[in-house]
Amino acid sequence: MQTIVSGAVTGPVRVRLAPSPTGTLHIGTARTAVFNWLFAKRHGGQFLLRIEDTDKERSQEAYTVNILDGLQWLGLQWDGEPVIQSSRLAEHQAAIKQLLASGHAYRCYATEAELEAMREAQKASHQAPRYDNRHRQLSAEQEQAFIAEGRQATVRFRIDDGASITWTDLVRGEMSWAGADLGGDMVIARRAAADQIGDPLYNLVVVVDDAAMAISHVIRGEDHIANTAKQLLLYQALGLPIPQFAHTPLILNKEGKKLSKRDGVTSVSDFRELGYAASALANYMTLLGWSAPEGMGERFSLEQAASVFDFERVNKAGARFDWDKLNWLNGQVLHELSPAALESQLQPLWVQAGYPLESHTGDWLQQLCTLIGPSLTLLADGVDQAQPFFQRPDLGADALAQLDQPSARDALAALLALLPTAELSADSAKALLAQACEAAGVKKGLLMKSLRAALLGKMQGPDLIDSWLLLHASGEDRLRLERCLG
Ligand code: GLU
Repeated sequence: MQTIVSGAVTGPVRVRLAPSPTGTLHIGTARTAVFNWLFAKRHGGQFLLRIEDTDKERSQEAYTVNILDGLQWLGLQWDGEPVIQSSRLAEHQAAIKQLLASGHAYRCYATEAELEAMREAQKASHQAPRYDNRHRQLSAEQEQAFIAEGRQATVRFRIDDGASITWTDLVRGEMSWAGADLGGDMVIARRAAADQIGDPLYNLVVVVDDAAMAISHVIRGEDHIANTAKQLLLYQALGLPIPQFAHTPLILNKEGKKLSKRDGVTSVSDFRELGYAASALANYMTLLGWSAPEGMGERFSLEQAASVFDFERVNKAGARFDWDKLNWLNGQVLHELSPAALESQLQPLWVQAGYPLESHTGDWLQQLCTLIGPSLTLLADGVDQAQPFFQRPDLGADALAQLDQPSARDALAALLALLPTAELSADSAKALLAQACEAAGVKKGLLMKSLRAALLGKMQGPDLIDSWLLLHASGEDRLRLERCLG
């Protein structure tokens, strides 16, 4: 029996993200990136990037661009140039040659049809599907006969059923796999004709590249646990130093199933388009599976999280995606912005919406931001909420009902009669309201509600006095009152 134990790492911390450019940057990959980045920063290490583009049919340059953009947008800057996996074919093939030469690997000539028949037979006798290692000991004559038939070969790596593979996972603790549970000898290269090495596959290239990049800690999703067991065997066979492993919990949807494309919004670029702030999304992803130490709260920057990040506080259980928490965090980020910063973020959206920004001078736009800022969840909410200040709104049913209350229009008429053209302050506006109530013989509540209906066209909205002051500054209050009384 052969036992593999992952080694302890000494030396600098070097971690990597190894995305495949076969799709846009998925939230799960981005969360893996966050944990890698936090761990590297915590230990003064390096966060490296490797683009795993060996699947030529499914890899696209546009996806690589999307992944790099998304990481940068989130503030997850990597160290050095990204390693492009396809450029390292010679190293991958050299490793396969080494494994063939040392007897750890061999060519298998089984056809797809034969493998399918084998799996069917296993199914029929209620066995787990696995390769039955049938070409492990081919004689030279048998090989020649297969080659003469024109069969393609794969290269397979021997996995002894009796092997026991153990490692101490930084998240999950002691892990152990039996060689017999790894599905038989594993394919490490496809299309390997007798004199060629063929196309190296995932487990082999990851090991060769992680070793070449001197990766100290492999931090990735728990869906890679079985790969880790196979990769540990490869490290040993190739005589390469073994890194530490940390398998992070999956991200789950509301129903507790693995978050997938079917759940709709799953790419970082989708969240960006929906108007989420990068710092809110990065903050949220940090909390997806990691809990901050007591007293730190849940709103923090990546740098703050990095100063305390460790794997002890990473959960083993899957992390449920919680939109309410993400929205809350996004609101927090927006509420922390100064009115000037919020204005500069909202301006392009307002221009896009066709609002007449040029007709508002001085600090009117900033005052509008001060007014609506506290109620924003997404930046895009600032378009809807600003609308009644830029464009005269229609009167909604609830506003019309309010205006039809007894004495409502009399109260507004009294206010209109008193309305100065000069600037109003909060105090003078409140004094005007009191005077108008007295003149019309109505309660303050009635006038306040009716004024809101007349000015904003609906019964909900931001602070009434501040809203009125803004509309007064643009001369709109008079026009809107006149509209209701005309
Ligand atoms: N390209 C693999 C993936 O995207 C990388 C897995 C790993 O980190 O080793 O799942």
